[in-house]
Amino acid sequence: MKILIVEDTRAVAAVMAARLSALGHETSLAENGRVAVDRFREDPPDLVLMDIEMPVMNGFEATNRIRAHEATQSWAWTPIIFLTASDTAENLVTAIEAGGDDFMSKAVPEAVLQAKMKAMARIADIRQRLAVANRKLEEQANRDGLTGLANRRYMDLMVDLRWADAQRRKAPFALLMLDVDNFKKYNDRHGHQCGDDCLRAIAGAIAATVETSNAEGVTGDAFAARYGGEEFCVVLPQASAPAYEFVAAALVDAVRRLGIDHPDNAEWGVATVSVGGARAVVADGDLAPLFLTADERLYAAKHDGRNRARID
Ligand code: GH3
Ligand code: MG
Ligand code: MG
Ligand code: MG
Repeated sequence: MKILIVEDTRAVAAVMAARLSALGHETSLAENGRVAVDRFREDPPDLVLMDIEMPVMNGFEATNRIRAHEATQSWAWTPIIFLTASDTAENLVTAIEAGGDDFMSKAVPEAVLQAKMKAMARIADIRQRLAVANRKLEEQANRDGLTGLANRRYMDLMVDLRWADAQRRKAPFALLMLDVDNFKKYNDRHGHQCGDDCLRAIAGAIAATVETSNAEGVTGDAFAARYGGEEFCVVLPQASAPAYEFVAAALVDAVRRLGIDHPDNAEWGVATVSVGGARAVVADGDLAPLFLTADERLYAAKHDGRNRARID
Protein backbone atom coordinates (compact mmCIF):
# COMPACT_ATOMS: atom_id res chain seq x y z
CA MET A 1 0.00 0.00 0.00
CA LYS A 2 0.94 3.64 -0.39
CA ILE A 3 0.74 4.95 3.17
CA LEU A 4 0.86 8.62 4.11
CA ILE A 5 2.23 9.10 7.62
CA VAL A 6 1.27 12.44 9.16
CA GLU A 7 3.35 13.05 12.27
CA ASP A 8 5.23 16.07 13.55
CA THR A 9 7.59 14.14 15.84
CA ARG A 10 10.37 13.02 13.52
CA ALA A 11 11.48 10.08 15.63
CA VAL A 12 7.94 8.64 15.83
CA ALA A 13 7.46 9.12 12.08
CA ALA A 14 10.79 7.47 11.29
CA VAL A 15 10.05 4.42 13.44
CA MET A 16 6.58 4.00 11.94
CA ALA A 17 7.95 4.39 8.40
CA ALA A 18 10.63 1.77 9.06
CA ARG A 19 8.12 -0.70 10.49
CA LEU A 20 5.72 -0.26 7.56
CA SER A 21 8.52 -0.49 4.98
CA ALA A 22 9.57 -3.75 6.59
CA LEU A 23 6.04 -5.01 5.94
CA GLY A 24 6.42 -4.12 2.26
CA HIS A 25 4.56 -0.81 2.21
CA GLU A 26 5.57 2.40 0.51
CA THR A 27 5.50 5.35 2.88
CA SER A 28 5.62 9.11 2.58
CA LEU A 29 5.73 11.67 5.37
CA ALA A 30 3.91 14.89 6.13
CA GLU A 31 5.00 16.89 9.16
CA ASN A 32 1.67 18.58 9.80
CA GLY A 33 -1.98 18.57 8.74
CA ARG A 34 -1.64 21.22 6.05
CA VAL A 35 1.18 19.37 4.30
CA ALA A 36 -0.88 16.17 4.61
CA VAL A 37 -3.87 17.70 2.81
CA ASP A 38 -1.61 18.97 -0.01
CA ARG A 39 0.13 15.59 -0.33
CA PHE A 40 -3.22 13.83 -0.34
CA ARG A 41 -4.52 16.01 -3.18
CA GLU A 42 -1.38 15.56 -5.27
CA ASP A 43 -1.04 11.83 -4.87
CA PRO A 44 -3.88 10.07 -3.04
CA PRO A 45 -2.55 7.23 -0.83
CA ASP A 46 -4.25 3.95 0.06
CA LEU A 47 -4.12 4.69 3.76
CA VAL A 48 -3.41 7.67 6.04
CA LEU A 49 -1.89 7.37 9.52
CA MET A 50 -2.74 10.65 11.21
CA ASP A 51 -1.27 12.16 14.34
CA ILE A 52 -3.68 14.40 16.26
CA GLU A 53 -1.61 17.09 17.96
CA MET A 54 0.48 18.90 15.35
CA PRO A 55 1.55 22.49 14.67
CA VAL A 56 0.00 24.52 11.79
CA MET A 57 -2.98 22.16 11.38
CA ASN A 58 -4.03 19.36 13.69
CA GLY A 59 -5.14 15.87 12.64
CA PHE A 60 -8.88 16.44 13.07
CA GLU A 61 -8.87 19.53 10.86
CA ALA A 62 -6.74 17.78 8.23
CA THR A 63 -9.13 14.82 8.26
CA ASN A 64 -12.07 17.16 7.72
CA ARG A 65 -10.37 18.72 4.73
CA ILE A 66 -9.40 15.37 3.25
CA ARG A 67 -13.01 14.18 3.53
CA ALA A 68 -14.23 17.40 1.91
CA HIS A 69 -11.76 16.92 -0.93
CA GLU A 70 -12.82 13.30 -1.40
CA ALA A 71 -16.43 14.40 -1.78
CA THR A 72 -15.44 16.20 -4.98
CA GLN A 73 -13.64 13.18 -6.44
CA SER A 74 -14.89 10.03 -8.09
CA TRP A 75 -13.20 7.73 -5.59
CA ALA A 76 -14.97 7.24 -2.31
CA TRP A 77 -13.19 6.86 1.00
CA THR A 78 -9.56 6.49 1.96
CA PRO A 79 -9.09 4.86 5.37
CA ILE A 80 -7.60 7.20 7.98
CA ILE A 81 -6.18 5.75 11.19
CA PHE A 82 -5.39 8.16 14.01
CA LEU A 83 -2.11 7.75 15.82
CA THR A 84 -2.64 8.23 19.53
CA ALA A 85 -0.50 8.14 22.63
CA SER A 86 -2.74 5.57 24.28
CA ASP A 87 -5.54 3.26 23.23
CA THR A 88 -8.47 4.33 25.33
CA ALA A 89 -12.18 3.97 24.48
CA GLU A 90 -12.45 7.74 24.55
CA ASN A 91 -9.80 8.06 21.85
CA LEU A 92 -11.66 5.65 19.59
CA VAL A 93 -14.94 7.56 19.87
CA THR A 94 -13.20 10.85 19.13
CA ALA A 95 -11.38 9.34 16.14
CA ILE A 96 -14.54 7.98 14.54
CA GLU A 97 -16.45 11.21 15.17
CA ALA A 98 -13.68 13.16 13.47
CA GLY A 99 -14.01 11.13 10.27
CA GLY A 100 -11.31 8.58 11.04
CA ASP A 101 -11.84 4.85 10.67
CA ASP A 102 -9.75 3.53 13.53
CA PHE A 103 -7.01 4.54 15.87
CA MET A 104 -3.73 2.98 16.76
CA SER A 105 -1.22 3.60 19.52
CA LYS A 106 2.10 4.97 18.30
CA ALA A 107 3.64 2.08 20.22
CA VAL A 108 1.36 -0.49 18.63
CA PRO A 109 2.57 -4.10 19.14
CA GLU A 110 3.93 -5.70 15.96
CA ALA A 111 1.19 -8.35 15.70
CA VAL A 112 -1.55 -5.71 15.94
CA LEU A 113 0.18 -3.50 13.37
CA GLN A 114 0.44 -6.43 10.96
CA ALA A 115 -3.20 -7.44 11.44
CA LYS A 116 -4.45 -3.88 10.93
CA MET A 117 -2.34 -3.42 7.80
CA LYS A 118 -3.62 -6.71 6.43
CA ALA A 119 -7.22 -5.54 6.87
CA MET A 120 -6.41 -2.15 5.30
CA ALA A 121 -4.66 -3.80 2.35
CA ARG A 122 -7.82 -5.82 1.68
CA ILE A 123 -9.84 -2.62 1.59
CA ALA A 124 -7.27 -0.93 -0.65
CA ASP A 125 -7.41 -3.86 -3.05
CA ILE A 126 -11.20 -3.73 -3.29
CA ARG A 127 -11.09 0.04 -3.75
CA GLN A 128 -8.64 -0.38 -6.60
CA ARG A 129 -10.80 -2.96 -8.32
CA LEU A 130 -13.86 -0.78 -7.88
CA ALA A 131 -12.02 2.17 -9.37
CA VAL A 132 -11.06 0.12 -12.44
CA ALA A 133 -14.63 -1.13 -12.85
CA ASN A 134 -15.94 2.43 -12.47
CA ARG A 135 -13.57 3.77 -15.10
CA LYS A 136 -14.67 1.03 -17.48
CA LEU A 137 -18.33 1.79 -16.85
CA GLU A 138 -17.77 5.50 -17.36
CA GLU A 139 -15.93 4.77 -20.58
CA GLN A 140 -18.72 2.48 -21.78
CA ALA A 141 -21.36 5.04 -20.88
CA ASN A 142 -19.63 7.53 -23.20
CA ARG A 143 -18.85 5.21 -26.13
CA ASP A 144 -21.05 3.95 -28.87
CA GLY A 145 -20.97 0.15 -28.70
CA LEU A 146 -20.93 -0.47 -32.46
CA THR A 147 -18.36 2.05 -33.67
CA GLY A 148 -16.33 2.93 -30.58
CA LEU A 149 -16.87 6.64 -31.26
CA ALA A 150 -18.26 8.96 -28.61
CA ASN A 151 -21.98 8.36 -28.32
CA ARG A 152 -24.81 10.85 -28.53
CA ARG A 153 -25.05 11.28 -24.77
CA TYR A 154 -21.37 12.17 -24.47
CA MET A 155 -21.50 14.39 -27.53
CA ASP A 156 -24.42 16.38 -26.08
CA LEU A 157 -22.43 16.92 -22.90
CA MET A 158 -19.22 17.84 -24.68
CA VAL A 159 -20.73 20.06 -27.33
CA ASP A 160 -22.41 22.23 -24.68
CA LEU A 161 -19.18 22.56 -22.73
CA ARG A 162 -17.18 23.47 -25.81
CA TRP A 163 -19.80 25.92 -26.99
CA ALA A 164 -19.81 27.65 -23.60
CA ASP A 165 -16.03 27.81 -23.74
CA ALA A 166 -16.11 29.29 -27.25
CA GLN A 167 -18.67 31.88 -26.09
CA ARG A 168 -16.37 32.97 -23.28
CA ARG A 169 -13.43 33.33 -25.63
CA LYS A 170 -15.52 34.81 -28.44
CA ALA A 171 -14.00 32.09 -30.59
CA PRO A 172 -15.35 30.50 -33.78
CA PHE A 173 -17.19 27.18 -33.63
CA ALA A 174 -18.20 24.73 -36.35
CA LEU A 175 -20.23 21.56 -36.75
CA LEU A 176 -20.33 18.95 -39.47
CA MET A 177 -23.21 16.49 -39.80
CA LEU A 178 -22.51 13.36 -41.85
CA ASP A 179 -25.01 10.89 -43.22
CA VAL A 180 -24.20 7.68 -45.08
CA ASP A 181 -25.58 7.74 -48.61
CA ASN A 182 -28.26 5.25 -49.67
CA PHE A 183 -27.52 3.15 -46.67
CA LYS A 184 -30.91 1.49 -46.61
CA LYS A 185 -30.08 -0.01 -50.01
CA TYR A 186 -26.71 -1.17 -48.67
CA ASN A 187 -28.48 -3.08 -45.90
CA ASP A 188 -31.06 -4.42 -48.35
CA ARG A 189 -28.38 -5.86 -50.63
CA HIS A 190 -25.67 -6.95 -48.16
CA GLY A 191 -27.64 -7.58 -44.98
CA HIS A 192 -27.55 -5.82 -41.62
CA GLN A 193 -24.40 -7.61 -40.45
CA CYS A 194 -22.41 -6.16 -43.36
CA GLY A 195 -24.21 -2.88 -42.77
CA ASP A 196 -22.78 -2.84 -39.25
CA ASP A 197 -19.28 -3.60 -40.55
CA CYS A 198 -19.65 -0.79 -43.05
CA LEU A 199 -20.68 1.67 -40.32
CA ARG A 200 -17.70 0.58 -38.23
CA ALA A 201 -15.31 1.17 -41.14
CA ILE A 202 -16.82 4.57 -41.88
CA ALA A 203 -16.58 5.54 -38.22
CA GLY A 204 -12.91 4.50 -38.32
CA ALA A 205 -12.26 6.73 -41.33
CA ILE A 206 -14.01 9.65 -39.62
CA ALA A 207 -12.04 9.15 -36.39
CA ALA A 208 -8.74 8.88 -38.28
CA THR A 209 -9.46 12.05 -40.26
CA VAL A 210 -10.27 13.99 -37.11
CA GLU A 211 -7.22 12.63 -35.28
CA THR A 212 -4.90 13.54 -38.15
CA SER A 213 -6.38 16.98 -38.42
CA ASN A 214 -5.84 17.53 -34.68
CA ALA A 215 -2.34 16.05 -34.76
CA GLU A 216 -1.31 18.23 -37.69
CA GLY A 217 -2.65 21.33 -36.00
CA VAL A 218 -5.32 22.01 -38.63
CA THR A 219 -7.81 21.74 -35.78
CA GLY A 220 -7.16 21.82 -32.05
CA ASP A 221 -9.61 19.62 -30.24
CA ALA A 222 -12.07 18.44 -32.88
CA PHE A 223 -14.01 15.32 -31.96
CA ALA A 224 -16.33 12.90 -33.71
CA ALA A 225 -19.44 11.18 -32.41
CA ARG A 226 -22.08 8.80 -33.67
CA TYR A 227 -25.12 11.00 -33.74
CA GLY A 228 -27.50 8.09 -34.27
CA GLY A 229 -28.22 5.39 -36.87
CA GLU A 230 -26.00 6.08 -39.92
CA GLU A 231 -25.39 9.67 -38.93
CA PHE A 232 -22.25 11.14 -37.42
CA CYS A 233 -21.26 14.53 -36.12
CA VAL A 234 -17.85 16.20 -36.07
CA VAL A 235 -17.46 19.15 -33.71
CA LEU A 236 -14.78 21.71 -34.54
CA PRO A 237 -14.28 24.16 -31.68
CA GLN A 238 -12.22 27.19 -32.72
CA ALA A 239 -11.92 26.03 -36.33
CA SER A 240 -10.82 28.68 -38.82
CA ALA A 241 -12.78 28.88 -42.08
CA PRO A 242 -10.03 27.04 -44.05
CA ALA A 243 -9.80 24.32 -41.39
CA TYR A 244 -13.56 23.86 -41.47
CA GLU A 245 -13.54 23.54 -45.29
CA PHE A 246 -10.54 21.25 -45.22
CA VAL A 247 -11.99 18.81 -42.68
CA ALA A 248 -15.38 18.67 -44.44
CA ALA A 249 -13.71 17.74 -47.75
CA ALA A 250 -11.28 15.35 -46.07
CA LEU A 251 -14.14 13.44 -44.44
CA VAL A 252 -15.96 12.95 -47.74
CA ASP A 253 -12.68 11.78 -49.38
CA ALA A 254 -11.70 9.48 -46.53
CA VAL A 255 -14.98 7.56 -46.63
CA ARG A 256 -15.02 7.23 -50.42
CA ARG A 257 -11.40 6.06 -50.41
CA LEU A 258 -12.35 3.13 -48.17
CA GLY A 259 -13.75 1.68 -51.39
CA ILE A 260 -16.55 -0.27 -49.70
CA ASP A 261 -18.53 -1.97 -52.45
CA HIS A 262 -21.99 -0.34 -52.77
CA PRO A 263 -23.41 -0.86 -56.30
CA ASP A 264 -26.71 0.80 -55.42
CA ASN A 265 -25.09 4.09 -54.45
CA ALA A 266 -25.82 6.10 -57.59
CA GLU A 267 -22.81 6.47 -59.89
CA TRP A 268 -20.24 6.08 -57.10
CA GLY A 269 -20.33 2.30 -56.71
CA VAL A 270 -18.75 2.57 -53.25
CA ALA A 271 -20.04 3.73 -49.87
CA THR A 272 -20.02 7.51 -49.48
CA VAL A 273 -21.23 10.17 -47.07
CA SER A 274 -22.85 13.53 -47.50
CA VAL A 275 -21.85 16.35 -45.18
CA GLY A 276 -23.66 19.46 -44.07
CA GLY A 277 -21.81 22.07 -42.05
CA ALA A 278 -22.34 25.30 -40.18
CA ARG A 279 -19.81 27.65 -38.67
CA ALA A 280 -20.19 30.57 -36.30
CA VAL A 281 -17.45 33.18 -36.72
CA VAL A 282 -17.97 34.04 -33.05
CA ALA A 283 -19.85 31.66 -30.77
CA ASP A 284 -22.83 33.62 -29.52
CA GLY A 285 -26.30 32.83 -28.21
CA ASP A 286 -27.88 29.48 -28.83
CA LEU A 287 -26.19 26.45 -30.35
CA ALA A 288 -29.42 25.02 -31.83
CA PRO A 289 -29.48 27.20 -34.99
CA LEU A 290 -26.03 25.91 -35.91
CA PHE A 291 -27.32 22.33 -35.84
CA LEU A 292 -30.37 23.36 -37.86
CA THR A 293 -28.24 25.01 -40.54
CA ALA A 294 -25.92 22.00 -40.72
CA ASP A 295 -28.96 19.74 -41.15
CA GLU A 296 -30.41 21.91 -43.92
CA ARG A 297 -27.10 21.88 -45.77
CA LEU A 298 -26.82 18.13 -45.33
CA TYR A 299 -30.20 17.82 -46.98
CA ALA A 300 -28.99 20.10 -49.77
CA ALA A 301 -25.86 17.96 -50.25
CA LYS A 302 -28.11 14.91 -50.63
CA HIS A 303 -30.27 16.78 -53.09
CA ASP A 304 -27.21 17.87 -55.11
CA GLY A 305 -26.24 14.23 -55.68
CA ARG A 306 -24.57 12.97 -52.44
CA ASN A 307 -20.87 12.19 -51.83
CA ARG A 308 -20.18 15.86 -51.18
CA ALA A 309 -20.10 18.55 -48.53
CA ARG A 310 -22.25 21.65 -48.38
CA ILE A 311 -20.87 23.98 -45.79
CA ASP A 312 -21.99 27.46 -46.87
P1 GH3 B 1 -29.89 8.84 -47.85
O1 GH3 B 1 -28.77 8.80 -48.83
O2 GH3 B 1 -30.94 9.79 -48.27
O3 GH3 B 1 -29.39 9.13 -46.48
O4 GH3 B 1 -30.53 7.40 -47.84
P2 GH3 B 1 -30.48 6.32 -46.69
O5 GH3 B 1 -30.95 5.05 -47.27
O6 GH3 B 1 -29.14 6.30 -46.08
O7 GH3 B 1 -31.44 6.94 -45.61
P3 GH3 B 1 -32.59 6.31 -44.76
O8 GH3 B 1 -32.77 7.25 -43.62
O9 GH3 B 1 -33.77 6.00 -45.62
O10 GH3 B 1 -32.00 4.95 -44.22
C1 GH3 B 1 -31.06 4.89 -43.21
C2 GH3 B 1 -30.78 3.46 -43.00
O11 GH3 B 1 -29.72 3.25 -42.06
C3 GH3 B 1 -31.97 2.69 -42.44
C4 GH3 B 1 -31.43 1.86 -41.33
O12 GH3 B 1 -31.77 0.51 -41.48
C5 GH3 B 1 -29.93 2.00 -41.46
N1 GH3 B 1 -29.27 1.96 -40.19
C6 GH3 B 1 -29.34 2.84 -39.19
N2 GH3 B 1 -28.60 2.42 -38.14
C7 GH3 B 1 -28.05 1.25 -38.50
C8 GH3 B 1 -27.17 0.33 -37.83
O13 GH3 B 1 -26.75 0.52 -36.69
N3 GH3 B 1 -26.80 -0.79 -38.51
C9 GH3 B 1 -27.24 -1.02 -39.78
N4 GH3 B 1 -26.83 -2.12 -40.38
N5 GH3 B 1 -28.06 -0.18 -40.40
C10 GH3 B 1 -28.48 0.94 -39.79
MG1 MG C 1 2.17 15.32 17.43
MG1 MG D 1 -30.03 9.28 -42.08
MG1 MG E 1 -28.40 8.00 -45.10
